[in-house]
Amino acid sequence: MNSSNPLLIVGSIAFDDLDMPTGEYRDVLGGAATYASLAASLVARGSTRVVGVVGADFPEAHLGELRARGVDTTGVERAAGRTFRWHGRYSADLASRTTLDTQLNVFADFSPKIPAAHRASPFVLLGNIHPKLQVAVVEQVQRPTLVAADTMNFWISGEPAALAEVLKRIDLLVINDEEARELSGIHNLVRAAADIRKRGPKLLVIKRGEFGALLFDDAGAFFVPAYPLEDVLDPTGAGDSFAGGLMGYLASRGEVSPLVIRKAMFFAAALGSFCVEGIGPSRLLAVTRPDLAARMASFARLVEHGGDLTLPS
Ligand code: AMP
Repeated sequence: MNSSNPLLIVGSIAFDDLDMPTGEYRDVLGGAATYASLAASLVARGSTRVVGVVGADFPEAHLGELRARGVDTTGVERAAGRTFRWHGRYSADLASRTTLDTQLNVFADFSPKIPAAHRASPFVLLGNIHPKLQVAVVEQVQRPTLVAADTMNFWISGEPAALAEVLKRIDLLVINDEEARELSGIHNLVRAAADIRKRGPKLLVIKRGEFGALLFDDAGAFFVPAYPLEDVLDPTGAGDSFAGGLMGYLASRGEVSPLVIRKAMFFAAALGSFCVEGIGPSRLLAVTRPDLAARMASFARLVEHGGDLTLPS
């Protein structure tokens, strides 16, 4: 356990309505900050802090579930009104999803206020919120070691100037392949990565769902596969769990060397894999540290090849 390098996570806390091939699930605990903090807390126990907003309808018991995992919820504001709500429908093969409804509710007026006790957090994860709010968070924290951010197509196309400012203020951007292509205007991901890194973040992770994830940094490109699973139930929150696992590992190690971030990529992929094994965050809420340790061992076997790939003479 290492609580000397706290991780601050800012983002949505939600009720999700999920139309899955296996059935319809209503009022499921969701939101990017929820998934990311649950994932991070499994890796970095006792040092994850979440900042977000919920409405009067949000059960205290849900915050209790986060606290039970060691997540500090003192930065979660409770506002008058209803909690942010998202409704999505997945295709039969879970490969695509359609947003049927987004109700911002109390999230519409969300202006993150970082509690004084959280402003010195050395690791910061900015979930997918308005880029101006992401910058507002950066302005409230004191010289962090690493600031990471997520974003989405909505902001890439709708708020390009504000997003350009975010890119200048962060160290790590974690986005999916479609977002990388849209942000750069370049289809080839290696070229897209070079273009995006020139705009600010020295570190870039491009997630490719079941096809793994790529890291681009000064040491070059690095790839981690998705952990192969027989049963995938619900991809909701996988990207946020990936980012939470990545940042949780970096925070627990307290440094961001090329080797440490390469190891963090495996923790990120492992947390993403647990997330998709349950509806909503159910599996993440049930996973234990021994479960994670076992998955990491299995992951290590998946990619183990002896380390020598020199051409035979
Ligand atoms: P992911 O599957 O990683 O894209 O994350 C899904 C989560 O993001 C769900 O739990 C939603 O509640 C949340 N979400 C969906 N749309 C938005 C949005 N516009 N802003 C913030 N969070 C959102």
